[in-house]
Amino acid sequence: MTTEKTVVLYPALGVGHLNPMVQLAKAFLRRGVAVTIAVVDPPGKDPVLEAAVARLAVACPSMTVRLLPIPPACADSHGAMRILAELRLASPVLREFLASLPAVDALVFDMFCIDALDVGADLAIPTYMFFPSAAADLAIYLQVPGCCRAAPSSFGDMGETPLRFSGVPPVRALDMPDTMVDRESELCRTRLQQLARMPEARGVLVNSFEELEPRALKALRDGLCVPAGRSTPQIYCVGPLVDGGVSANGGSGERHACLEWLDMQPKQSVVFLCFGSGGVFSAAQLRETARGLEESGHRFLWTVRSPREEQSKYTEPDLEAFLPDGFLQRTSDRGLVLKNWAPQAEVVQHEAVGAFVTHCGWNSALEAIMAGVPMICWPLYAEQRLNKVHLVEEMRIGVAVEGYEEELVRAQEVETKVRLVMEPDQGKELRDRVAMAQEMAAHAVKEGGSSDVAFYAFIKHLEVSKLDNTKAG
Ligand code: UDP
Repeated sequence: MTTEKTVVLYPALGVGHLNPMVQLAKAFLRRGVAVTIAVVDPPGKDPVLEAAVARLAVACPSMTVRLLPIPPACADSHGAMRILAELRLASPVLREFLASLPAVDALVFDMFCIDALDVGADLAIPTYMFFPSAAADLAIYLQVPGCCRAAPSSFGDMGETPLRFSGVPPVRALDMPDTMVDRESELCRTRLQQLARMPEARGVLVNSFEELEPRALKALRDGLCVPAGRSTPQIYCVGPLVDGGVSANGGSGERHACLEWLDMQPKQSVVFLCFGSGGVFSAAQLRETARGLEESGHRFLWTVRSPREEQSKYTEPDLEAFLPDGFLQRTSDRGLVLKNWAPQAEVVQHEAVGAFVTHCGWNSALEAIMAGVPMICWPLYAEQRLNKVHLVEEMRIGVAVEGYEEELVRAQEVETKVRLVMEPDQGKELRDRVAMAQEMAAHAVKEGGSSDVAFYAFIKHLEVSKLDNTKAG
């Protein structure tokens, strides 16, 4: 295998976007394609992202990492709007960087970095999108601009009204992503413009696999998700691209203490709770969750951050201060609470883990599928409510907690869902189905599996694109 092709990967900000892009980089490298990953570097510090970038070199030494420093974004933009503003500021820096490289065969940008289409066009570099979420989300996103325009009001005002999209079960308006709830907002308008441009990509690499989402993929390929007259880019399902666990210890070989603790627990006896890079709860919710776990009687490993009221989620949480009195002592023989961060990829793969209470970030969902662990879905932000719909209704490998869309999920509900998944009957059905998904996922990424074949098809396509470009030039 030669390294004659060079691909530049351009992730969006955030661990949930960087992690799968790094896995994509590794998949290219394994197939003899040289990779540079260009990471936007805003002023100021995001400790989680910094740690992730620091781990890159260790996890993947043959990949070139290039930081793209950008100026500060407008001070009054927040949350998703700020991220989009920062990505916009990064475009000229990306352009300059790409122009400095001798040859680039493809630019692969994260779905949030749509402006990269213009940079690629400007420099005549074939430009592809990486979609780090479910194919079903891609099917929905392509249909959202039309649906949003036709809807009687903003999704945020439509509550339980079912929205019908090709390729997926009906979605309640309240389960639409945060960025799309208010069509009058600047955030929503910007996102709609981005979504409408997605078909301009020459192809889309999706972090999923054929066997998991046949219905959504069929709708996409049948052209049912784009407006009449437009064509759907070629879709390559190349996943699951997930962390195999190496980066959890930075490659140092040291095992996290929670894994040692898991070693001592019986097989499939532990409920693991972890809510992505951004999940924070109110103090009241943390107390309810603690009570539910205690009442369930099951073993647990719980990643806890300081309550929302304390603003900065990465401060060291003072557990005694906000968990119920005596909770830690009473459950010390069967529970372990981790502060802020867990080596999740390794934890879910541990045989002691029997269920995963997750916020339904797509990386977390794929990690659970690869590990064959059923999910208790507790979506919090971004597109996680959509992922819950796919996991619970379409794939039927998870159950949802009731009340996630309200102020508080009650202790009783936490207890009920933990028992339901951990104890026989319905738990067994979920476990059987997720075991099947696990088997299909493992097969998809093996040599000759659907994702492996799709990856080679993509590389082949790059060769053809290169020839076309050379001829055109
Ligand atoms: N993660 C982790 N430990 C934590 C929280 C998150 O290792 O305590 C990892 C997790 O394994 C996943 C990523 O961070 O790979 C989170 O991505 P996901 O798409 O699930 O959620 P997001 O953080 O984007 O909301």
